[in-house]
Order: sequence, then C-alpha cells, then structure tokens
Amino acid sequence: MELRATGTLPSSPEILRSRVASGAPQYVPADSVTLGSLPVALEPRGWRAAAPPLAPAASPTARAVGFDPTNLDPTVRPQDNFYQYAVGGRIARSPIPDDKPSWGVDAELVAQTQEKLRGILEASAGRRNPLVATPEQKIGDFYASGMDVAAIEQAGAAPIRPWLDRIAGIEDARGLQDAVAAMHADGMHALFSFGATPDAKDSRNVIGEAFQGGLTLPERDYYLSQEESQKDVREKYLSHLENMFTLLGRLPDAAREAAETVLRVETKIAEASLSRAEMRDPNALYHPMDRSLLRELTPSFDWQSYFANIGRPDIESINMATPDFFIKMNGLLRDTPLEDLKTYLTWRVATENAEFLSSNFEQEDFNFAGRTLKGVQSQQPRWKRVVKHTDDYLGEALGQKFVEQNFSAEAKARALDMVENIKGALREKIVTGWMSEETKREALAKVDTMVAKIGYPDKWKDYSGLVVDRGLFGENVARARAFHARENLAKIGKPVDPTEWEMTPSTVNAYYHPLKNEIVFPAAILQPPYFDVNADDASNYGSIGATIGHELTHGFDDEGAQFDAQGNLRNWWQPADEAEFKRRADGVERQFNEFVYDGQRTDGKLVKGESIADLGGLELAWTAYKNATEGDPAPRTDDGFTPDQRFFLNYALSWATNLRPEYAHLILSTDPHPLPQFRVLGPLANLPSFHAAFDVKPGDPMARPEEQRNRLWD
Ligand SMILES: [Zn+2]
Repeated sequence: MELRATGTLPSSPEILRSRVASGAPQYVPADSVTLGSLPVALEPRGWRAAAPPLAPAASPTARAVGFDPTNLDPTVRPQDNFYQYAVGGRIARSPIPDDKPSWGVDAELVAQTQEKLRGILEASAGRRNPLVATPEQKIGDFYASGMDVAAIEQAGAAPIRPWLDRIAGIEDARGLQDAVAAMHADGMHALFSFGATPDAKDSRNVIGEAFQGGLTLPERDYYLSQEESQKDVREKYLSHLENMFTLLGRLPDAAREAAETVLRVETKIAEASLSRAEMRDPNALYHPMDRSLLRELTPSFDWQSYFANIGRPDIESINMATPDFFIKMNGLLRDTPLEDLKTYLTWRVATENAEFLSSNFEQEDFNFAGRTLKGVQSQQPRWKRVVKHTDDYLGEALGQKFVEQNFSAEAKARALDMVENIKGALREKIVTGWMSEETKREALAKVDTMVAKIGYPDKWKDYSGLVVDRGLFGENVARARAFHARENLAKIGKPVDPTEWEMTPSTVNAYYHPLKNEIVFPAAILQPPYFDVNADDASNYGSIGATIGHELTHGFDDEGAQFDAQGNLRNWWQPADEAEFKRRADGVERQFNEFVYDGQRTDGKLVKGESIADLGGLELAWTAYKNATEGDPAPRTDDGFTPDQRFFLNYALSWATNLRPEYAHLILSTDPHPLPQFRVLGPLANLPSFHAAFDVKPGDPMARPEEQRNRLWD
C-alpha cells in the first residue's frame, strides 16, 4: 500500500503484511523479497543535466512558487488529455538516462536525495579509525568497503564460497531442509518465506507467518505465460542462469543442465503460487496453525527442526498464509531429486549475492535484471549502487544524518498541519456521506485512531549488535542481512512496536499499514516539488496533499476496508454499506480495465486498491484545500493559472514520468500501481472540481460519462 512502485521491483500488495521474510533488510520492500531478490535494486538516481528542478530550492524568505509553463504541451487541449497538456513539455525534455528504467519528477527527487546521501557517506568514510562503533562509523565503513573495488575484484566469489560448499555437501533431505532454514536465518530466500507480522486478527501482537516465495523472476506469470514476450524473457533467463553457473565454475554442458534444472524447479514453485490479484484478499491469507496441523499439511517438511534452525524453537503456531502453496511445496520436496534441489539452492545463493561480488557476477546480474527485465541500457555508477545498499541495510543510521541536514521543524509542522486538515476533510465526508450511522461510527473510529508518522522515527533503530568494518563488502552485507533476519525473527511472540518504520527517512515514497492503521511519510518525499514550505496551498494540496489523501484512503480501499480501527481483520461494514462500497470500487476497476498501453491492458483488479486511493485521495485533498483557503484574499494568478488550476497541474506534475517499454510492461504485469499517466487521466475524468477548473464539457475525453462516473467519498 505504498504510494508508488519502489523502483526496485514493482511494489506489491505484500506491504499489507510486512512480510519481510526471514530477515531481508526491513526496508527492502517486502515484494522484492518474495520476488526472489533479484538484485534489480537499481533505483532511478543520480541524474544531473537537462531539466532544472521545477521548484527553486527553498529560501529563508517565504515566496510563492508558481507553475512553470514550460512543463506544458500547449498543442494539446487540457480537456482532451490532461496528462499530456500538463506535463508534455516536461517529459519531452527529460529523456531517460541510459542507466534508468524510467525518468520523471520522482526519479529527479530520488537523484537529488542520492547526491545528499553520497555527501554524508563520503564524509563519514573519510573519518578513519573512530574509537567507538558509532552509527557514523558503520555507514562510513559499509560505504567504504562497497567502494573498495580492488578488494572486491580480488575476492571473486569468496564471500559465498562457504555457502556453496555447504550446499554441495548436502547428503539427504534433512540436510537440504537444514540448509533452507540456515539461509532464512541469514536473511536469504529459498523455497518459501518466513517472517514476523502483526497477527491480522490480533494486531497488537506479532506472529510468525509462512508465505509463498522462492521465485527469482518477478511474478508467477513470467514462468507460466505463453505470450511470446514472456517466452522470450524465459529464454534469456535460461542463458543468464547458464552464464552464472559458468561463473561458479561449472563446465558448459553442466551449466546448461543446471540452468534447465533451476527453471524447472522454479516453474513448479510458480504453479503452486497465488497470483498477485489473488493475494489482495486478506481473509484468504489467514490460516493460523499449530505444529500438529503443520505436520499434517506438509509431512515431508519438518517444521520443528525448521523453527529450531532459525533460532526460534519456541514457536508453537504460525499463520500459514498460503496453505495450497505449502501442500504443493511438500510434493515438490518429496518428488524432486535431491541434486536438483541443491542446484536450485546454489542458484539462490548466487543470485542474491551477485551484486555484492566481483564485476563478472555483478555485470551478468545486471544484464538480466536491469537490461532484460527493465530495458535499462547501462549500469549505474558504483557509488549510486553502494549508496542504495547502505540505505537498504543501515537506513536509519544514514537517515539520522539525512534528516539533521535536510528536514526542518517547520516542514514537519506544516506537513502535520496538512495531515490534520485532510483527516478533517475525511471526517466531514464520512459524516455527511453515504454510509449508515453504524458504519459511520466505525469509519470515524478508524480515522481517529489512525497514526500519522512524519519525517523520521521518534526512536532510531539500534545497530549496536551489528559489526561493520572495512573488510570485504560481501561479508559486511552478509552480516547486515543476518542482523536484520535475527531482528525480524526476534519480534515473533512480542507486542508490535509502534515506533517502528518500514521505510527509511531518505525514501521518496509513503505508505499505509492496515494492521497498524498508520500513514507514514518519510522526510525525503516531503521535499519540492511534492511539498514546498514556500508554495501556496493549491500547489501543496494538489501534490503532497493528494498523496496524504491517497494513504488515508488506503485505510478504506478494497484491502484496507477489511481492517478495523485497531488494525484487526474484521468486517465492520453494514451489509448495505458494504454493497455500496463494492459498487463504487467495481466502477473504478472497470474504468482501469479500459486503459491500454502498447497492446497491454491494465488489470483493473490488480490496481483497484491504488486507484481507489488515488480517486479518494484527490477528493479529500480538494476538500481540505478548499477548507484551508476559505476566505483567502486575492489568490495569486501571476503564472497565468488560478489556484484551482494549479492544484490539478501540480497533481499531474507529481506523476510526470517517462518509462521504457520493457519497464512499463513489467509494471503492468506485476504492480498494483497503474502506469503514471493513467493515475492522472483516470481519477480526474471523474471529478467535477477538475471539470470546472479546466472548463471540461460533457463529451470531452477528460469527462467520463455521468452514469459511469466514479466517486469514493463524494
Ligand atoms: Zn498506494
């Protein structure tokens, strides 16, 4: 339930239950874990040139920030295609850099943030031999070891050699299962996922959850689809596997055979997996089971030793999120030759670590994960990748420095003020809206208990148990990954820690967590052009305001609506209200089914939650903006636009993005977020406030016919 795709692998409904499988760094979005952690974590970052940042840097003296007319494409009427009209000029002058899958306002902000993080890391790395192990020492040493190319080259595959030897030495099914558990305990992913999550029906407490997993390609359809484009990706995947096994030292025939084995095993896992759309039903993912039930479900997998091997022999019961998957996994373990499963584990170790090893591994990994899957032309400079890894593994140590330098108390106060106004708009709409009194009471309770976290955590994560030094980078990463895995597994059986964050402060994104009923806005998204303390309300409510409204509305989207004010999975809707909500949600699904990109249709069911959140978020932001500016004297129009127009122009601007076709197709196949242009065209076509601002008439493409118009809160 994040605002946008993360740029690693597309984000997915998995944030719903922070299924940070046995200990990926908490901040690597859960989806990239389930997706097998192909190291596609090459965020669009680090660009400098061409388009100047839209909004000038904040200055100490307040001044209004208008809309830059060079963003427009004046050859297009706003009534015909508002996205193209509002940002056509901007996207035309912002070509995608070779090392990025996409480029836009979001990526530019990420790039600026990346530069700031680099400054922090280089300064920290420059301070040698501190006497105590401070957060600054850890980020400095982590970064320095990642930049020590000579040592990394010389080591080759050495950091994963102990794992490869261990897997090669497996002699029986027991040894194999022990190795899977050991990989999980070290934060690597194989076969399935296991980790801590709030209990969906008792959300103050953390339980263990077993979830489908073990795939390397982004989604099960990559293995199963008969479309030519997907078959082509599978061919390239086979070559990639073969190349990687060759790098691991296998002879050509053996490497090819190993590649085919991995694809065969992963295809079986894919056949056992639910689709992403199917995973949007939280009730379908809730099956508490004790040990004896687990034994019955998977007689070929020994959960008792698994729990012991991950360091939690005390676990008595868990949530088995995807029972059918585990039944099939049981069959896979029983019927697959041991050598094939060993080959699969070898592959998992190699692919998860390739980006931390010598350049031959790293480049082979990029060729597939970057070039084939996302269409990226060249690899990002090393420093950007290492900055990203440092943020993934030590994000709150780095984040402390980042907010010290980049997030003012004034910005925090203004953002909080906006959150309160938008919450107020939501209360107002619930009170005057279409729900019955009983449902209204529950909905209002949910708004009242919803927590807003702004900027950075009140309590920083404690990394004192993690050793970071200037030795091999791959070893620093392995220790950090294991640290996060241990930390994750240690939560099971304890109360939920309300101070925890699931994104780092330097992440340009936001999220709603249904089990914690909280909305979270890291410092890095509270920057221009999304949020500018010097901009007028129209601009801020149109961009960050719509985002705040988006996250609030997630509490009521097709998934979020199933959780109550305490974050428990419980149906609190009166039947008639539920039917009305469903009718509205289905309208949004139908509308998005109509959007086609390059021959590929948007999956309305997959993007339903995000599209509901976009529509509802805009409705809330608009009302809050109107409330906040009521009685304002003489609105400024010196940029040629009314404030109402600026509200929608800034909304469109927040989605201005160029995408490579490969990446656009990847998003369409896997991401619960619609393509950026549809996030503008879709919701606005429904909104009377937009139609009035830009004189959109019935029959214009930007006016959805009255009888098909979607509304969420209004
Ligand atoms: Zn969202």
